[in-house]
Amino acid sequence: MTKPFYVLSPEDQNFAIEYHVEDPAKQEYLKSQWKRFKCYDTALAQTYEVLCRPTNPNLEVTVDRYLPANAPAGPYRVEIFVPAKHSTSKRVIFTITYRVNYSGSGTQEEYSYVMVDMSELNDVWHPLGEFHLDPSAGREIGKVRQYDLSIEDPPAQASYGPVRWVPLFSLPGKGPRFDAPVGSPEERNAPFPTGRVMFGKYPIWVGRWYDANPFLSWYTYGYHTGADLNLPGNTEADRGKEIYSIGDGIVTFAGRAGSWGNIIVIAHPEAKVTLPDGSRRKQAIFSRYGHVDHRILVRAGQRVKRGQPIGYIGLAANAISGSHLHFDICYTDLLAKRPAHWPNLDVIRALRWHASQRESRAYLSSQMSIKKEVISNYLDPFVFLRDNH
Ligand SMILES: [Zn+2]
Repeated sequence: MTKPFYVLSPEDQNFAIEYHVEDPAKQEYLKSQWKRFKCYDTALAQTYEVLCRPTNPNLEVTVDRYLPANAPAGPYRVEIFVPAKHSTSKRVIFTITYRVNYSGSGTQEEYSYVMVDMSELNDVWHPLGEFHLDPSAGREIGKVRQYDLSIEDPPAQASYGPVRWVPLFSLPGKGPRFDAPVGSPEERNAPFPTGRVMFGKYPIWVGRWYDANPFLSWYTYGYHTGADLNLPGNTEADRGKEIYSIGDGIVTFAGRAGSWGNIIVIAHPEAKVTLPDGSRRKQAIFSRYGHVDHRILVRAGQRVKRGQPIGYIGLAANAISGSHLHFDICYTDLLAKRPAHWPNLDVIRALRWHASQRESRAYLSSQMSIKKEVISNYLDPFVFLRDNH
Protein backbone atom coordinates (compact mmCIF):
# COMPACT_ATOMS: atom_id res chain seq x y z
CA MET A 1 0.00 0.00 0.00
CA THR A 2 1.38 3.40 -0.93
CA LYS A 3 0.86 6.39 1.32
CA PRO A 4 0.23 9.71 -0.32
CA PHE A 5 2.44 12.67 0.40
CA TYR A 6 0.74 15.11 2.68
CA VAL A 7 1.13 18.72 3.54
CA LEU A 8 -1.25 19.12 6.39
CA SER A 9 -1.27 22.60 7.73
CA PRO A 10 -0.75 26.22 6.78
CA GLU A 11 2.12 26.59 9.26
CA ASP A 12 4.03 24.06 7.22
CA GLN A 13 7.20 25.56 5.73
CA ASN A 14 5.88 24.80 2.24
CA PHE A 15 3.07 27.26 2.65
CA ALA A 16 3.63 30.73 1.15
CA ILE A 17 1.25 33.67 0.80
CA GLU A 18 2.01 36.49 -1.64
CA TYR A 19 0.26 39.83 -1.85
CA HIS A 20 0.49 41.34 -5.30
CA VAL A 21 0.19 44.91 -4.11
CA GLU A 22 2.90 47.50 -3.47
CA ASP A 23 1.01 49.61 -0.96
CA PRO A 24 1.98 48.46 2.59
CA ALA A 25 -1.39 49.60 3.96
CA LYS A 26 -3.22 47.43 1.46
CA GLN A 27 -0.92 44.54 2.32
CA GLU A 28 -1.70 44.95 5.99
CA TYR A 29 -5.38 45.02 5.16
CA LEU A 30 -5.11 41.79 3.17
CA LYS A 31 -3.18 40.08 5.95
CA SER A 32 -5.84 41.07 8.45
CA GLN A 33 -8.47 39.32 6.33
CA TRP A 34 -7.08 35.85 6.96
CA LYS A 35 -8.71 33.68 9.58
CA ARG A 36 -7.40 30.43 10.94
CA PHE A 37 -9.78 27.62 11.80
CA LYS A 38 -9.90 23.87 12.35
CA CYS A 39 -11.79 21.39 10.23
CA TYR A 40 -12.37 17.68 10.61
CA ASP A 41 -11.84 14.91 8.06
CA THR A 42 -14.41 12.25 8.99
CA ALA A 43 -12.86 9.57 6.82
CA LEU A 44 -9.41 9.83 8.35
CA ALA A 45 -10.43 11.08 11.80
CA GLN A 46 -7.97 13.95 11.30
CA THR A 47 -8.15 17.59 12.27
CA TYR A 48 -6.56 20.12 9.93
CA GLU A 49 -5.73 23.77 10.38
CA VAL A 50 -6.96 25.86 7.50
CA LEU A 51 -6.78 29.52 6.50
CA CYS A 52 -9.71 31.35 4.98
CA ARG A 53 -10.46 34.83 3.71
CA PRO A 54 -13.22 36.69 1.91
CA THR A 55 -12.76 36.64 -1.86
CA ASN A 56 -11.77 39.99 -3.23
CA PRO A 57 -12.09 41.09 -6.84
CA ASN A 58 -9.71 44.02 -6.58
CA LEU A 59 -6.64 42.86 -4.72
CA GLU A 60 -4.80 39.83 -5.93
CA VAL A 61 -3.50 37.26 -3.44
CA THR A 62 -1.89 33.92 -4.15
CA VAL A 63 -1.17 31.03 -1.81
CA ASP A 64 1.27 28.27 -2.71
CA ARG A 65 1.77 24.73 -1.47
CA TYR A 66 4.77 22.72 -2.58
CA LEU A 67 5.25 19.04 -3.32
CA PRO A 68 7.95 17.66 -0.96
CA ALA A 69 11.28 17.86 -2.80
CA ASN A 70 12.18 14.21 -2.18
CA ALA A 71 9.05 12.89 -3.90
CA PRO A 72 9.88 10.54 -6.79
CA ALA A 73 9.04 11.41 -10.40
CA GLY A 74 5.84 9.96 -11.79
CA PRO A 75 2.11 10.51 -12.24
CA TYR A 76 0.24 12.05 -9.32
CA ARG A 77 -3.36 12.97 -8.59
CA VAL A 78 -3.35 16.36 -6.89
CA GLU A 79 -6.13 16.86 -4.31
CA ILE A 80 -7.18 19.66 -1.98
CA PHE A 81 -9.21 19.31 1.20
CA VAL A 82 -12.28 21.57 1.12
CA PRO A 83 -13.79 22.20 4.56
CA ALA A 84 -17.55 22.54 4.98
CA LYS A 85 -17.07 25.82 6.84
CA HIS A 86 -15.71 29.05 5.39
CA SER A 87 -15.78 27.67 1.82
CA THR A 88 -18.65 29.36 0.03
CA SER A 89 -16.87 30.69 -3.03
CA LYS A 90 -18.09 29.23 -6.30
CA ARG A 91 -15.09 30.32 -8.30
CA VAL A 92 -11.82 29.55 -6.57
CA ILE A 93 -9.00 29.23 -9.06
CA PHE A 94 -6.09 26.85 -8.60
CA THR A 95 -3.06 26.32 -10.79
CA ILE A 96 -0.87 23.23 -10.73
CA THR A 97 2.66 23.68 -12.07
CA TYR A 98 3.73 20.59 -13.98
CA ARG A 99 6.78 21.84 -15.88
CA VAL A 100 9.38 24.61 -15.58
CA ASN A 101 11.78 25.98 -18.17
CA TYR A 102 14.89 27.82 -17.09
CA SER A 103 15.99 30.39 -19.64
CA GLY A 104 18.15 33.50 -19.72
CA SER A 105 15.21 35.58 -18.57
CA GLY A 106 14.48 33.39 -15.55
CA THR A 107 12.02 30.64 -14.78
CA GLN A 108 8.96 29.96 -16.88
CA GLU A 109 6.25 27.82 -15.35
CA GLU A 110 3.78 25.76 -17.30
CA TYR A 111 0.62 25.16 -15.36
CA SER A 112 -2.95 23.98 -15.57
CA TYR A 113 -5.94 26.05 -14.37
CA VAL A 114 -8.75 24.45 -12.39
CA MET A 115 -11.83 26.28 -11.12
CA VAL A 116 -13.44 24.81 -8.00
CA ASP A 117 -16.96 25.44 -6.73
CA MET A 118 -16.29 25.14 -3.00
CA SER A 119 -19.90 25.82 -2.05
CA GLU A 120 -20.86 22.29 -3.10
CA LEU A 121 -18.06 20.50 -1.24
CA ASN A 122 -18.21 19.62 2.46
CA ASP A 123 -15.14 18.25 4.22
CA VAL A 124 -13.89 16.24 1.26
CA TRP A 125 -10.71 15.70 -0.69
CA HIS A 126 -11.34 17.11 -4.13
CA PRO A 127 -9.19 16.17 -7.15
CA LEU A 128 -7.64 18.96 -9.22
CA GLY A 129 -6.39 16.56 -11.89
CA GLU A 130 -3.58 14.14 -12.68
CA PHE A 131 -0.10 15.26 -13.65
CA HIS A 132 3.29 13.76 -14.41
CA LEU A 133 5.56 15.48 -11.89
CA ASP A 134 9.33 15.35 -11.63
CA PRO A 135 10.35 17.31 -8.50
CA SER A 136 14.06 16.92 -9.36
CA ALA A 137 13.47 19.32 -12.27
CA GLY A 138 12.83 22.24 -9.90
CA ARG A 139 11.17 23.32 -6.69
CA GLU A 140 8.18 24.73 -8.55
CA ILE A 141 7.14 21.34 -9.91
CA GLY A 142 3.89 20.18 -8.36
CA LYS A 143 3.21 23.57 -6.78
CA VAL A 144 -0.48 24.17 -6.11
CA ARG A 145 -1.36 27.84 -6.14
CA GLN A 146 -4.69 29.39 -5.18
CA TYR A 147 -5.58 32.69 -6.81
CA ASP A 148 -7.98 35.28 -5.59
CA LEU A 149 -9.62 36.32 -8.82
CA SER A 150 -13.09 35.08 -8.16
CA ILE A 151 -14.91 38.36 -8.84
CA GLU A 152 -17.81 37.54 -6.57
CA ASP A 153 -20.11 40.27 -5.40
CA PRO A 154 -20.88 40.17 -2.55
CA PRO A 155 -17.63 38.45 -1.53
CA ALA A 156 -17.74 34.77 -0.63
CA GLN A 157 -15.23 32.81 1.45
CA ALA A 158 -12.32 30.82 0.11
CA SER A 159 -10.26 28.43 2.23
CA TYR A 160 -6.90 26.85 1.70
CA GLY A 161 -5.28 24.17 3.76
CA PRO A 162 -4.20 20.59 3.18
CA VAL A 163 -3.01 19.45 -0.22
CA ARG A 164 -2.01 15.92 -1.09
CA TRP A 165 -0.20 14.48 -4.06
CA VAL A 166 -1.36 10.89 -4.47
CA PRO A 167 1.23 8.79 -6.35
CA LEU A 168 -0.40 6.80 -9.15
CA PHE A 169 2.65 4.77 -10.15
CA SER A 170 2.79 2.15 -7.42
CA LEU A 171 0.30 -0.42 -8.64
CA PRO A 172 2.09 -2.91 -10.89
CA GLY A 173 0.75 -4.04 -14.24
CA LYS A 174 -2.53 -3.45 -15.90
CA GLY A 175 -5.54 -4.81 -14.05
CA PRO A 176 -8.87 -5.57 -15.68
CA ARG A 177 -10.40 -2.63 -17.49
CA PHE A 178 -13.61 -0.85 -16.55
CA ASP A 179 -15.73 1.49 -18.70
CA ALA A 180 -18.55 3.93 -18.02
CA PRO A 181 -21.98 2.23 -17.66
CA VAL A 182 -23.56 4.44 -20.36
CA GLY A 183 -22.64 5.89 -23.76
CA SER A 184 -22.02 4.50 -27.24
CA PRO A 185 -19.28 1.83 -27.71
CA GLU A 186 -16.96 4.54 -29.12
CA GLU A 187 -17.65 6.87 -26.19
CA ARG A 188 -17.09 4.15 -23.62
CA ASN A 189 -13.87 3.11 -25.35
CA ALA A 190 -12.45 6.62 -25.52
CA PRO A 191 -10.11 7.85 -22.74
CA PHE A 192 -12.06 8.69 -19.57
CA PRO A 193 -11.78 12.41 -18.66
CA THR A 194 -8.62 13.08 -16.69
CA GLY A 195 -9.67 16.56 -15.61
CA ARG A 196 -13.15 17.56 -14.54
CA VAL A 197 -14.62 18.50 -17.91
CA MET A 198 -17.86 20.28 -17.11
CA PHE A 199 -21.35 20.62 -18.57
CA GLY A 200 -22.39 23.78 -16.75
CA LYS A 201 -21.43 22.90 -13.20
CA TYR A 202 -21.67 19.14 -13.74
CA PRO A 203 -18.75 16.81 -14.54
CA ILE A 204 -18.99 15.11 -17.92
CA TRP A 205 -18.37 11.36 -18.02
CA VAL A 206 -18.62 10.04 -21.59
CA GLY A 207 -19.98 11.69 -24.72
CA ARG A 208 -22.66 14.09 -23.50
CA TRP A 209 -23.46 12.16 -20.31
CA TYR A 210 -23.00 14.23 -17.19
CA ASP A 211 -23.29 13.61 -13.45
CA ALA A 212 -26.05 15.75 -11.96
CA ASN A 213 -25.32 14.64 -8.39
CA PRO A 214 -21.66 13.75 -7.79
CA PHE A 215 -20.29 11.50 -5.05
CA LEU A 216 -20.72 12.93 -1.53
CA SER A 217 -23.04 15.75 -2.56
CA TRP A 218 -25.30 16.55 0.39
CA TYR A 219 -28.90 16.65 -0.83
CA THR A 220 -32.45 15.59 0.12
CA TYR A 221 -31.56 11.92 0.55
CA GLY A 222 -28.28 12.33 2.42
CA TYR A 223 -24.75 12.16 1.11
CA HIS A 224 -24.83 10.73 -2.37
CA THR A 225 -23.20 7.31 -2.66
CA GLY A 226 -22.44 7.58 -6.37
CA ALA A 227 -23.28 9.43 -9.58
CA ASP A 228 -26.59 10.30 -11.27
CA LEU A 229 -25.90 10.02 -14.98
CA ASN A 230 -28.03 12.12 -17.29
CA LEU A 231 -28.19 13.26 -20.91
CA PRO A 232 -28.76 16.97 -21.55
CA GLY A 233 -32.32 17.94 -22.48
CA ASN A 234 -35.50 17.25 -20.57
CA THR A 235 -35.70 14.87 -17.61
CA GLU A 236 -36.67 12.00 -19.93
CA ALA A 237 -33.70 12.43 -22.30
CA ASP A 238 -32.02 9.28 -20.99
CA ARG A 239 -35.13 7.15 -20.49
CA GLY A 240 -34.77 3.74 -22.10
CA LYS A 241 -31.07 4.14 -22.89
CA GLU A 242 -28.97 0.99 -22.53
CA ILE A 243 -26.95 0.30 -19.38
CA TYR A 244 -23.73 -1.72 -19.66
CA SER A 245 -21.69 -3.73 -17.17
CA ILE A 246 -18.60 -1.63 -16.39
CA GLY A 247 -16.36 -4.73 -16.29
CA ASP A 248 -16.20 -8.53 -16.21
CA GLY A 249 -18.00 -9.92 -13.19
CA ILE A 250 -20.82 -11.92 -11.67
CA VAL A 251 -24.32 -10.56 -11.08
CA THR A 252 -25.19 -10.81 -7.38
CA PHE A 253 -28.61 -9.15 -7.53
CA ALA A 254 -31.06 -8.16 -10.27
CA GLY A 255 -34.63 -7.20 -9.49
CA ARG A 256 -37.04 -4.99 -7.62
CA ALA A 257 -35.82 -3.07 -4.60
CA GLY A 258 -38.37 -0.81 -2.96
CA SER A 259 -38.27 2.83 -3.94
CA TRP A 260 -35.24 2.20 -6.14
CA GLY A 261 -37.42 0.63 -8.83
CA ASN A 262 -35.08 -2.09 -10.11
CA ILE A 263 -31.41 -2.45 -9.33
CA ILE A 264 -28.55 -4.62 -10.58
CA VAL A 265 -25.43 -5.37 -8.53
CA ILE A 266 -22.33 -6.93 -10.10
CA ALA A 267 -19.27 -8.28 -8.22
CA HIS A 268 -15.87 -7.68 -9.86
CA PRO A 269 -12.99 -9.76 -8.48
CA GLU A 270 -10.18 -7.26 -8.96
CA ALA A 271 -9.86 -3.50 -9.42
CA LYS A 272 -7.59 -0.66 -8.34
CA VAL A 273 -9.14 1.34 -5.55
CA THR A 274 -8.14 4.59 -3.88
CA LEU A 275 -9.22 4.48 -0.23
CA PRO A 276 -10.33 7.60 1.68
CA ASP A 277 -6.82 8.09 3.15
CA GLY A 278 -5.40 8.29 -0.38
CA SER A 279 -3.73 4.87 -0.26
CA ARG A 280 -4.25 2.54 -3.21
CA ARG A 281 -4.57 -1.20 -3.59
CA LYS A 282 -6.13 -3.96 -5.65
CA GLN A 283 -9.24 -5.67 -4.35
CA ALA A 284 -12.76 -6.83 -5.23
CA ILE A 285 -15.51 -4.23 -5.72
CA PHE A 286 -19.24 -4.16 -6.44
CA SER A 287 -20.89 -1.95 -9.06
CA ARG A 288 -24.55 -1.01 -8.62
CA TYR A 289 -27.00 0.30 -11.24
CA GLY A 290 -30.19 1.90 -9.89
CA HIS A 291 -33.54 2.98 -11.41
CA VAL A 292 -33.36 0.26 -14.08
CA ASP A 293 -36.64 -0.24 -15.96
CA HIS A 294 -38.55 -3.56 -16.03
CA ARG A 295 -36.52 -5.01 -18.92
CA ILE A 296 -33.65 -6.50 -16.89
CA LEU A 297 -31.33 -8.46 -19.18
CA VAL A 298 -29.38 -10.42 -16.53
CA ARG A 299 -30.14 -12.55 -13.47
CA ALA A 300 -28.30 -13.24 -10.21
CA GLY A 301 -25.47 -15.75 -10.58
CA GLN A 302 -24.85 -14.92 -14.25
CA ARG A 303 -21.37 -14.07 -15.52
CA VAL A 304 -21.18 -10.82 -17.49
CA LYS A 305 -18.53 -9.27 -19.72
CA ARG A 306 -17.33 -5.68 -19.77
CA GLY A 307 -19.64 -3.70 -22.06
CA GLN A 308 -22.44 -6.28 -21.96
CA PRO A 309 -25.91 -4.66 -21.96
CA ILE A 310 -27.67 -5.44 -18.66
CA GLY A 311 -30.80 -3.27 -18.79
CA TYR A 312 -32.36 0.09 -19.63
CA ILE A 313 -32.71 3.34 -17.73
CA GLY A 314 -36.09 3.75 -16.02
CA LEU A 315 -37.50 5.60 -13.05
CA ALA A 316 -37.34 5.30 -9.30
CA ALA A 317 -40.59 4.00 -7.80
CA ASN A 318 -41.43 7.42 -6.31
CA ALA A 319 -39.63 9.36 -9.02
CA ILE A 320 -39.49 13.10 -8.56
CA SER A 321 -36.22 13.83 -10.33
CA GLY A 322 -36.97 12.21 -13.69
CA SER A 323 -35.05 9.41 -15.35
CA HIS A 324 -31.38 8.87 -14.73
CA LEU A 325 -28.98 6.06 -13.96
CA HIS A 326 -27.84 5.99 -10.35
CA PHE A 327 -24.41 4.33 -10.42
CA ASP A 328 -22.14 3.59 -7.50
CA ILE A 329 -19.09 1.54 -6.51
CA CYS A 330 -18.85 -0.28 -3.19
CA TYR A 331 -15.50 -1.52 -1.84
CA THR A 332 -16.87 -3.58 1.06
CA ASP A 333 -19.25 -6.55 0.90
CA LEU A 334 -22.18 -4.35 1.95
CA LEU A 335 -24.01 -4.60 -1.40
CA ALA A 336 -23.56 -8.38 -1.42
CA LYS A 337 -25.57 -8.50 1.80
CA ARG A 338 -27.84 -5.50 1.26
CA PRO A 339 -28.16 -4.72 -2.48
CA ALA A 340 -30.66 -1.92 -1.84
CA HIS A 341 -28.59 -0.31 0.93
CA TRP A 342 -29.00 3.42 1.46
CA PRO A 343 -27.16 5.13 4.30
CA ASN A 344 -29.27 5.62 7.38
CA LEU A 345 -32.58 6.59 5.83
CA ASP A 346 -34.26 7.07 9.22
CA VAL A 347 -31.71 9.68 10.23
CA ILE A 348 -32.02 11.42 6.85
CA ARG A 349 -35.82 11.57 7.21
CA ALA A 350 -35.43 13.01 10.69
CA LEU A 351 -32.93 15.56 9.44
CA ARG A 352 -35.28 16.70 6.68
CA TRP A 353 -37.92 17.39 9.31
CA HIS A 354 -35.44 19.41 11.30
CA ALA A 355 -33.92 21.34 8.45
CA SER A 356 -34.45 24.54 10.40
CA GLN A 357 -31.86 23.37 12.93
CA ARG A 358 -29.05 22.90 10.47
CA GLU A 359 -26.50 24.47 12.76
CA SER A 360 -27.44 22.41 15.78
CA ARG A 361 -24.95 19.97 17.23
CA ALA A 362 -27.33 17.01 16.88
CA TYR A 363 -28.00 17.84 13.25
CA LEU A 364 -24.32 18.13 12.40
CA SER A 365 -23.32 14.97 14.20
CA SER A 366 -26.08 12.95 12.47
CA GLN A 367 -24.95 14.40 9.17
CA MET A 368 -21.38 13.32 9.96
CA SER A 369 -22.47 9.79 10.86
CA ILE A 370 -24.20 9.41 7.48
CA LYS A 371 -21.16 10.70 5.69
CA LYS A 372 -18.95 8.28 7.56
CA GLU A 373 -21.20 5.42 6.49
CA VAL A 374 -20.89 6.48 2.83
CA ILE A 375 -17.13 6.94 2.90
CA SER A 376 -16.61 3.63 4.71
CA ASN A 377 -18.33 1.70 1.92
CA TYR A 378 -18.42 3.62 -1.36
CA LEU A 379 -15.77 5.09 -3.68
CA ASP A 380 -15.97 8.15 -5.88
CA PRO A 381 -17.05 6.40 -9.09
CA PHE A 382 -15.47 9.09 -11.27
CA VAL A 383 -12.05 8.56 -9.67
CA PHE A 384 -12.59 4.80 -9.82
CA LEU A 385 -13.17 4.80 -13.58
CA ARG A 386 -10.24 7.11 -14.15
CA ASP A 387 -8.01 4.68 -12.23
CA ASN A 388 -9.30 1.61 -14.02
CA HIS A 389 -10.17 2.61 -17.58
ZN1 LIG B 1 -28.48 8.76 -7.19
